[in-house]
Amino acid sequence: MSLRIVVCVKYVPDATGDRHFAEDLTVDRDDVDGLLSELDEYAVEQALQIKEAADGDAEITVLTVGPEDANDALRKALSMGADKGVHVEDDDLHGTDALGTSLVLAKAVEKTGYDLVVCGMASTDGTMGVLPALLAERLGVPQVTQLSEVSVDGGPDGTVKGRRDGDTATEHLEASLPAVVSVTDQSGEARYPSFKGIMAAKKKPVESLELDDLDIEADEVGLAGAWTKVEEAAERPARTAGTIVKDEGEGGKQLAEFLAGQKFI
Ligand SMILES: Cc1cc2nc3c(=O)[nH]c(=O)nc-3n(C[C@H](O)[C@H](O)[C@H](O)COP(=O)(O)OP(=O)(O)OC[C@H]3O[C@@H](n4cnc5c(N)ncnc54)[C@H](O)[C@@H]3O)c2cc1C
Repeated sequence: MSLRIVVCVKYVPDATGDRHFAEDLTVDRDDVDGLLSELDEYAVEQALQIKEAADGDAEITVLTVGPEDANDALRKALSMGADKGVHVEDDDLHGTDALGTSLVLAKAVEKTGYDLVVCGMASTDGTMGVLPALLAERLGVPQVTQLSEVSVDGGPDGTVKGRRDGDTATEHLEASLPAVVSVTDQSGEARYPSFKGIMAAKKKPVESLELDDLDIEADEVGLAGAWTKVEEAAERPARTAGTIVKDEGEGGKQLAEFLAGQKFI
């Protein structure tokens, strides 16, 4: 049987755009352009490499939970070479926090069928880096996170192996499948979609799911079901002109005094 890989990809507001909170202190996702989270491109790349190492005997599904435009993130991943997409979209998802998102992803992964789930190390908007662990817990399978190298041995009944580079040690980890892994931005440059890939992606199937399809009640997600709440948000103050130190013999001393005054030294 082919290896079933699900890659979780998030559609995030473009970090170069002007981002805002909406009145209810959720991220305003309507007023800003979005894109596939760049860190999730590494996850798609590693899934493609695992498929290539299996001589193509694998199927890659890319999964996103997000608004209508999140379809763009799926199309990008499909143009890189993934086989099909799943898009969970529902008005009741508005305000869903990390715990709620992990519930939706877990149900969608189970419905899709999987041997291996590949996530990015963190999204580029929330950057919590918690989803892979929450997802593994909900699925009741091993998690091997923050990998800079990943491979699968022995197909769907085999194992996933990886290398995690920490500050003080390098760990070589292994888990039996099914499992959840996350990969870092050190795992290898993500490929650019080719023109052929972009054209092919237009015809690849994308399944749309709503909460009902996943047996999730509206009050388990959204702002109502969230365990976390943003109480207050304020715009960062505009940058001031700064302090210019002219070196007339005492420059070094003045710099040190300035840094000490700011408690940097
Ligand atoms: C429409 C919508 C509205 C939301 N509103 C709020 C809100 O008001 N308040 C709030 O706290 N949170 C909200 N969220 C949830 C939030 O944006 C995050 O998805 C969630 O909190 C996870 O945190 P993170 O982004 O830091 O993920 P991380 O834990 O940093 O992500 C790690 C990895 O998990 C996977 N992943 C994460 N999110 C998704 C996703 N949505 N789809 C597929 N894969 C994913 C990716 O592989 C990613 O690299 C909303 C999400 C959506 C889709």
